[in-house]
Amino acid sequence: MEKVLVTRRISENALELIRNEGYELSVYSESRDLTPMELIKMCEGHAALLSVGPNKIDEHFLNSCKHLKGIALMSVGYDKVDVNAAIKQGMPISNTPDVLSEATADVAFLLMLSVARKAFYMHKTIERGEWGFFEPMKNLGQELYGKTLGVLGLGRIGLELAKKAKAAYGMEIVYHNRSKNQNAERLLDATYVSFDELLRQSDVLSVHVNLTKETTGMFNLTTFEKMKPNAIFINTARGAIHHEEDLITALQNKIIWGAGLDVTNPEPMDRNSPLLNMENVCVLPHIGSATEETREKMAVMAAQNIIKALKGERMPQVINPEMYQA
Ligand code: NAP
Repeated sequence: MEKVLVTRRISENALELIRNEGYELSVYSESRDLTPMELIKMCEGHAALLSVGPNKIDEHFLNSCKHLKGIALMSVGYDKVDVNAAIKQGMPISNTPDVLSEATADVAFLLMLSVARKAFYMHKTIERGEWGFFEPMKNLGQELYGKTLGVLGLGRIGLELAKKAKAAYGMEIVYHNRSKNQNAERLLDATYVSFDELLRQSDVLSVHVNLTKETTGMFNLTTFEKMKPNAIFINTARGAIHHEEDLITALQNKIIWGAGLDVTNPEPMDRNSPLLNMENVCVLPHIGSATEETREKMAVMAAQNIIKALKGERMPQVINPEMYQA
């Protein structure tokens, strides 16, 4: 009987789908990440890998695991995958797009509003016994009504955030991608701008690009300095897209007004990071897709992809379709 390695405990329904097709499962359930060597070793005797968490699917891994029929990621981001090496190797790899877009956009929206009203910091003042005398000029946040939301990466998640921001606050939408998103322009009257213009115009700038060589470190002191002093920076994409020390400097020197992060650089973040004590900063521990409904859909989608790979059929959410072309 062929075996599938699953690198974290996931929804029982998804595991059942795989068992029902007649495959055996090994589910790694320790609360620590596998080292690259451990992952390679564990893949021995398995026909497919359902990869959950930050496993590196690089050239070395792919060369060592040529026997796998396919790899299904339980995430939409595939920055840990060397796609070119996978194509060279003829290894199909899938991800889980769309099913997590709304949940992740919810977290971006939550951070945007929480930063604007200093919500996390205000909560801490109660815990510290500092809810005292009412002062009308203290604890003031910003309103979002009619402001401009800039989206870097108006794809699936960026579009969901833009819809919410437009519906809730009538925000103007400007965006920057490598190519225009005509659908978003039609739906939301969104305006395509250059990256520099996005920095200049945004009251809230939310990052939704994939992490690639091009986008690594895209937000640094030079870019923060081009933003408005009242700007709120939101990153729910990947921590390495911003330079965290530069972000701290930009906030401490009031170059920008606030920041909301669901992703940090590194992860987990240092619990002594100055970001955690700043009034206009809200940080979450990478929970973008963490709802019962979404994690269930992601697990089922990954299971459906792995079953297809085991049967030698096309994975529906393949990220390297080139390898199916004759
Ligand atoms: P998507 O639909 O592919 O959207 C990405 C957008 O970024 C596209 O519009 C793309 O447009 C644009 N883009 C890519 N590279 C760019 C560049 N160099 N310059 C400018 N724009 C660029 O992806 P998605 O499903 O929305 O997911 C986006 C990312 O969110 C994922 O890669 C993942 O890292 C992150 N994510 C995080 C969480 C979380 O838990 N916090 C959950 C899910 C996803 P063009 O191709 O036209 O440039």
